[in-house]
Amino acid sequence: MNTTTTVSTDFKLQLGSFYVEVWGCQMNVYDGGRIRDLLTAAGFSEVSSPKDADIVVLVTCAVRAKAEDKVFNQIASWQRTGDITKDTIVALGGCVGSELAEKILDLNKSVNIIFGPRTIHRLPQMISEFASTHKPVVDVTADAIDKFDSLPDAGPVGPSAFVTIMEGCSNKCTYCIVPYTRGEEQSRPLQDILDECVNHIANGVKEIHLLGQNVNSYHGLNPDGSICNFSTLLYEVAAVPGVERIRFTTSNPMDFSDDIIEAVQKLDVISDQIHVPIQAGSDRILKAMHRRYTAAQYIELVNKLRKARPSVHISSDFIVGFPGETDEDFEETMKVVNEVKFDQSFSFVYSIRPGTPAALLDDPISKETKMERLYRLQKRLEEIASEYTQAFLGTTQRVLVEGISRKDESELKSRASSGRIVVFKGPTSLVGQMVNVKITSVVAHTLKGEIVNE
Ligand code: SF4
Repeated sequence: MNTTTTVSTDFKLQLGSFYVEVWGCQMNVYDGGRIRDLLTAAGFSEVSSPKDADIVVLVTCAVRAKAEDKVFNQIASWQRTGDITKDTIVALGGCVGSELAEKILDLNKSVNIIFGPRTIHRLPQMISEFASTHKPVVDVTADAIDKFDSLPDAGPVGPSAFVTIMEGCSNKCTYCIVPYTRGEEQSRPLQDILDECVNHIANGVKEIHLLGQNVNSYHGLNPDGSICNFSTLLYEVAAVPGVERIRFTTSNPMDFSDDIIEAVQKLDVISDQIHVPIQAGSDRILKAMHRRYTAAQYIELVNKLRKARPSVHISSDFIVGFPGETDEDFEETMKVVNEVKFDQSFSFVYSIRPGTPAALLDDPISKETKMERLYRLQKRLEEIASEYTQAFLGTTQRVLVEGISRKDESELKSRASSGRIVVFKGPTSLVGQMVNVKITSVVAHTLKGEIVNE
């Protein structure tokens, strides 16, 4: 059940406008959207610049140190340019909010409110409290399901909508701060997720993107109190009238069970792009990361997925230079890259996160060595992804039209099942529709084409 948060009328008159900026993962993007829905429902109005806002809400990322620094640099920059003044209420949340909590008040005096990923629903109350006391408000812990129960229905979001199905993670990979910032894994009840999908479809959405730190281990309650697993959730979402495509992120290889692979085989609405982070190809490093699968098991999973759905595009995440990663370990990663042939993937140098088990490990590898490895990995990943891109030439792709191309207003921007961006000329009335496009050329990883009849 959704309830609308109420804020006193006096408060609305004093604090009318808000601006939201989001850093980090898709779950933060989802939270940013829900904060917009929440503050709008509470009577605030959204503006497009911090300069015009009474309240600036920052949804942050703590996965890498660099991402964390960005938010403080951004606040300092806005202060220099006068976009944030002493009268602006600054609310900082997301994973950095729960990672640092009160410490933020020492790091940056202009932050007034600190919230966590599980307390976004209490933001109007926190704003109200700060406005009346002028004392910093810190509220970072809550039950994840309370958050979803307290949010209003989502407003229109375009043709594709994120739907968070679970919050937190209990896997405790040794390098990762998420279990400490988003808390233990909690799944939303099936019916709440389906209601959110139905609401999105009524607002013109065609594609549902299911989100969670580890979607494959979803175990929400059915209406009768029994447990619904992820494959059943996929069938249920696919059965919602109007759902034309389903994406899901992120999958942990160890929980990608055969019933989920079977759902990928049976449900055409599931996209061809399946993101399965491997992180490293060395079993020794995977063990040190506490990833609980081997490179051979990962390859077996990919082979099963390709057998079930030959058109699947596997993308992945890689961490290079985990503490103690030897040249031999890194070569194991390159071996898996060459064997699996990943499509568009993400790779980063290991970033130490205080409070995680990996932060206590000796890390004798030089920064230069790590950067060299990253460069080699990214070069190879890019070569393979380019081969996939070229292979789309001459094919016909079913695409979801997302909007007008930013580079050329006479073209429409759309997304294929593989995740590739496809641009083509067509009327703006096609925005939000699924159409067939024949690919006629390729620019970097963008496909260009022309609309063809169904
Ligand atoms: S599965 Fe591992 S890397 Fe992913 S969020 Fe959970 S602890 Fe972090």
